[in-house]
Amino acid sequence: MTREPPKPLILIVDDTPTNIQVLAENLIKDYRIKVAASGEDALRVIASQDLPDLILLDVMMPDIDGYEVCRRLKNSPHTNAIPIIFVTALNEAANEEFGLNLGAMDYITKPFYLPVVKARIRNHIRLKQTTDMLESMAWIDGLTGIPNRRRFDQMLEVEWKRAQRNRLPLGIIMVDIDHFKEYNDCHGHGEGDVCLKQVAAMFAATVNRPGDLVARYGGEEFVILMPETDTDGTRQLADQLRHRIESMQIPHTHSSASRWVTISLGYASLIPQANQASSALLDEADSMLYQAKSLGRNRAFGYCLG
Ligand code: GH3
Ligand code: MG
Ligand code: MG
Repeated sequence: MTREPPKPLILIVDDTPTNIQVLAENLIKDYRIKVAASGEDALRVIASQDLPDLILLDVMMPDIDGYEVCRRLKNSPHTNAIPIIFVTALNEAANEEFGLNLGAMDYITKPFYLPVVKARIRNHIRLKQTTDMLESMAWIDGLTGIPNRRRFDQMLEVEWKRAQRNRLPLGIIMVDIDHFKEYNDCHGHGEGDVCLKQVAAMFAATVNRPGDLVARYGGEEFVILMPETDTDGTRQLADQLRHRIESMQIPHTHSSASRWVTISLGYASLIPQANQASSALLDEADSMLYQAKSLGRNRAFGYCLG
C-alpha cells in the first residue's frame, strides 16, 4: 500500500484574526494549516509539535514581535532550516532589508495580492522539499537504503555527548559478514549486493527501539548504536542478530563457518568519562569483532564482567 505524503505544513502567525482567516481559507486546499495569535504562541507551537515546512510571520505583535521570533528560530539548530516569510504592513525598504538580514526567505507587504502570495509560498515550499530530499540522500546509503557512515559518525557524536552529560551507558555493535569476498567470487557481485540488502533490511527490522541507529559502516560492515543500553542489553541484541542471519539460510557455498551466510559481531557498552573521545567505544567494539573472527567467526564477542 502506498501512502500519499502528507501535505506541507504551514504555520500562520498573526495577532489579527481576520488576517489569519484570509490566508488560511486560501491555503487550506493545498496545505495543512496551523495558526498562532502571538509570537509567544508561535514559539510554543513550534517547540511542542511537528516542525512546519514554512512560517508566514507578522511583524508587529504585542508580546514578542515577528523579528524576534525569526531571530530565535534562526539561532536554534533545530529550527533554523524552516523558511520564514514575513507578511507585514511595514512597507519601508529598511524594514524589508532588516527582515531579510535576519534570515527570512521573503518579505510580503500588506495589503497583498493573493495569487502572488500563493505563488511565492508554492515556490518556497518546493525549494524546501528539494533541500530536505538532498539532505536525506546525503546520509542514506544508496545500495541498502539505511543510514550511511556519515550519518553514523554524526549520531555517534550526538549520543556520546548526551551519554556523557547524563552518565548513561552507550552500546555499540560492529558487524562484519563472514567470508564475503568468497561469496562474491562464487555467487557473483550482483548476488552479493542482494545479500547486503537482505542483511540490512533484517537489521533495520530487528533494531527498532527509538534512538537506536543501524548504519552501513562500509562494504560488508554494519554498525548499531544503542543509547542507554548496557553491556548485557548490547549482548542480547548482538546474539539475536547473529541467530537471525543464520536462520535466514542464505546459501554460502564457500564459507568455513557455515553452509549459510553468517556474521561476526563485536560489542561494547560504556558510560563515557569526561574528556574521553568516542573513538574509545569504537576501538573497543572493533577489537571485540577481531576476537570474534579469530575465534572462528559466526559469533558475537564482547566484554563480560564477572
Ligand atoms: P572475513 O570473514 O574475514 O570478514 O572475510 P571477508 O571476505 O568478508 O572480508 P574481506 O574484507 O576480505 O572482504 C570483504 C568483501 O566484501 C570484499 C568485497 O568484494 C565485498 N564487498 C564490499 N562492498 C561490497 C558491495 O557493495 N557489494 C558487494 N557485492 N560486495 C561488496
Ligand atoms: Mg570486512
Ligand atoms: Mg567480512
